[in-house]
Amino acid sequence: MSQPVLWISGPTQVRAEILQECARPMIGHRGAQMSALHERIDPHLRLCFGLAEASPSRIAVHTASASGLMESALAGAGPRVLALVNGAFSQRFAEIAACLGREVTVLCAENGRCVEPAEVARTLDQRGPFDAVTLVVNETSTGVRTPLAPLTKIFGAHPKLMVLADVVTLLGGAPVDFDASGLDFAFAGSQKALALPPGISVACASARYLEQARAQRMRGWYLDPVRIFEGHEKRATPATPCIPLYYALARQLEDISSGVTLHHKDRRKTGLEAWRARYEEHARMQQITEAWAQSNSLDLFPLPELCSPTVSCIRAETLDIPSFLAAMLARGHQLGEGYGELKRSTFRIGHMGDHTEVTLAQMLSIADDVIRELS
Ligand SMILES: *Cc1c(COP(=O)(O)O)cnc(C)c1O
Repeated sequence: MSQPVLWISGPTQVRAEILQECARPMIGHRGAQMSALHERIDPHLRLCFGLAEASPSRIAVHTASASGLMESALAGAGPRVLALVNGAFSQRFAEIAACLGREVTVLCAENGRCVEPAEVARTLDQRGPFDAVTLVVNETSTGVRTPLAPLTKIFGAHPKLMVLADVVTLLGGAPVDFDASGLDFAFAGSQKALALPPGISVACASARYLEQARAQRMRGWYLDPVRIFEGHEKRATPATPCIPLYYALARQLEDISSGVTLHHKDRRKTGLEAWRARYEEHARMQQITEAWAQSNSLDLFPLPELCSPTVSCIRAETLDIPSFLAAMLARGHQLGEGYGELKRSTFRIGHMGDHTEVTLAQMLSIADDVIRELS
């Protein structure tokens, strides 16, 4: 049976050209060819994190899934952690902090919402000081994107606070302005909006994060952020990296930067312009999905102003979700179930990675047919 087109919220659909990159002959990871791979990746990755050329923030690639990088981020920060939790992945971030023996204070928001900035400000003032705050900017489980601007201001009033941000389903799908947002450590796995196979992660750290991380004791070894960033910089990963995925990452970043993954009309765009065109297309795909849901009398699960640009979580009380998903799969499109306790009442469409408005419209028209047949 041929594989369905993936519209789940990760792993996302991977282009054939990228899969072929993973089939290259192996190279030594301590040699010039590996250094050359790093060189290909870096400038584009800096664009992806929104870094200006002169920014002192650093980037790195590490062979681990995104959950590993949650652990890295925390390993380089102090013991008092404030965790903002509004879904399954932000909950995982808080759990990892607890597993590392941190003193964790959790602020929870209802599913479909984000923690109120005023509550964050109050907690920082009254229950601090904290060494770090964890948050998931795009909570994939509920399709909620937390607006960063109000938080940036609040965090900025606490100069020693390290802001550790999961941008897993955002990076490559929407702008991540690392420095302007006042982030100290941000990371994403390869298999979401970057549209690569799973297995490696990319990260960005501020100069002040790395400086204070060097003073933290017991950072572990494999996930030690200092080792990861210094290793990347010296073109010497601490352990053997997943070389096939480095090839895939280099090719994908180069392709995005040269407009290859864009619509015909935008294909001449390059560099930052090409990345912006990609983000704009993803924003339009969110609008298309929302309009489609409304035309079928379905609502998006999050508050309207918090809807994610890369994954739509759709509330479907009137639809038989298992039958709908099964019928879509039979027509070659795999959509996502709701996550955890939302499984019965919601389903998800991951409109990220290299999907376009064109492929989305085709899939949604099949979804229209399926809904008509089920009703
Ligand atoms: C998928 C995901 C993760 C976990 O990624 P793994 O690669 O499975 O470790 C973390 N955070 C968010 C927001 C995600 O969507």
